[in-house]
Amino acid sequence: MKKLAEVELSGFGKFPKAVCQVSRPLNIDEIRGYLNESSVTPRGLGRSYGDAALNEKGIVTESVLMNRFLSFDESRGIVKCEAGVTYKDLLDTFVLKGWFPPVTPGTKYVTIGGAIASDVHGKNHHIDGSISNFVKSFKILSASGEILKCSRTQNSDLFWATVGGMGLTGFITEAEIQLKKVDSQYINNKTLKLHNIDELFEKFEEFNEDYLYSVAWLDTVASGSKYGRNILYLGNHSSYNKLPEKFKNKSRERFIEKKIAVPFEIPFATLNKLSVTMFNAAIYMKEKNVEDYLHYDKYFYPLDFILNWNHIYSKNGLIQYQLNVPEEEGKEAIDKILKKVVAYGGGSFLAVLKKMGDQNGILSFPFKGYTLSMDFPVRKGVIQMCKQLDAIVLDYDGRTYLTKDSILDETTFKKMYDGLWQKWLEIKIKYDPYYKFSSNLGRRIGLCPS
Ligand SMILES: Cc1cc2nc3c(=O)[nH]c(=O)nc-3n(C[C@H](O)[C@H](O)[C@H](O)COP(=O)(O)OP(=O)(O)OC[C@H]3O[C@@H](n4cnc5c(N)ncnc54)[C@H](O)[C@@H]3O)c2cc1C
Repeated sequence: MKKLAEVELSGFGKFPKAVCQVSRPLNIDEIRGYLNESSVTPRGLGRSYGDAALNEKGIVTESVLMNRFLSFDESRGIVKCEAGVTYKDLLDTFVLKGWFPPVTPGTKYVTIGGAIASDVHGKNHHIDGSISNFVKSFKILSASGEILKCSRTQNSDLFWATVGGMGLTGFITEAEIQLKKVDSQYINNKTLKLHNIDELFEKFEEFNEDYLYSVAWLDTVASGSKYGRNILYLGNHSSYNKLPEKFKNKSRERFIEKKIAVPFEIPFATLNKLSVTMFNAAIYMKEKNVEDYLHYDKYFYPLDFILNWNHIYSKNGLIQYQLNVPEEEGKEAIDKILKKVVAYGGGSFLAVLKKMGDQNGILSFPFKGYTLSMDFPVRKGVIQMCKQLDAIVLDYDGRTYLTKDSILDETTFKKMYDGLWQKWLEIKIKYDPYYKFSSNLGRRIGLCPS
């Protein structure tokens, strides 16, 4: 085997970091070769936050050069592509043809392989579920070196273990995905400025069926009478005819992204309680109750506008903590979590609450309930605070999201995913008895041996 470059890698949170042997294979045979030598972790664009795409004991195979479109059925909107194709590629290629990704995460810098392995969800999970609902089939290089086609009817056990399986069942090589028909590039958005969590949960229920997309921003610093203030954003794809005249031409033009950059890591001290408080207050002040039309890029990917925005967390990085709690006691659980975060005082730069629908894959994160994601700079005391959040989440039979995680221990993971990880492991062992696919995350939470 040729000597591979040793590179210090991290996820998007820049915590933790690990030196890994990194390869950018051009074809499947290269990956087959690695499987004879070492453990392998598939990687896309490294937009998972923690150590899901790290492998300090082996090889990381990045899919970025395996990124060709293979076919497109224009009448049905079914695309077949290699795993390294990104959401940006999909948008650039298909939006003007009237097709849109049916489920999209909050960044378009995600590969199809990474999206399937995390079974990503978007603002429409309460209605459409996660990406696996739209994956008709995929091919995967399994530990035996065979390429297996997986769908709901073919190797279905491997299909359901791979969606949400965090790259531990094999290297997805290509996938066939159903896109969604759209008539314009714009989202008809309704913004509601709300005063507390009670109002927010009422509105979630009131508009549950009327809007395909819903997401709320929460102020995680405000206390006293301002505690729990939030902004709810609701949206539907707009038809071309309903667009205001000024957007009609733009809707038929190719979208060209403009970016600003955070060119270097900002010193730790700039992201302190004061700046986070001011940032949260500024968001709340800026928004109004309005109905307007937003381009899809602004609506779905506001953070992509700022290149390397994770630099604001300094070289120490950030922990992204995303939890999901069951619907019945969702409000009570979210309230407890929020109170804990407000009391911690550090606040979260960005906190987002969404309503979730049914679960798909065996280890898929979403299930019917409410999900809250928050990010905290890595600093003294933050891990202990997150462990306290874990305890509340467990109390309510909830769980945290593996693709965002960097701190979960084996015991807590196994409690959160009880009944599921055992079922998943049986399938893992059937297809990969020697744990050729492994990762730092897999070993940390006990899905792979150390
Ligand atoms: C700003 C931002 C917003 C986000 N918003 C959301 C959101 O709204 N909803 C959501 O669900 N997620 C969200 N995410 C998380 C992101 O969508 C997932 O982490 C996604 O998996 C990243 O894709 P990637 O290509 O970068 O994969 P990586 O981060 O490189 O890898 C992620 C996982 O996929 C596996 N993997 C990658 N490629 C393959 C392959 N070819 N075969 C098998 N396994 C593979 C890896 O082993 C790893 O376990 C967000 C991330 C960021 C940075």
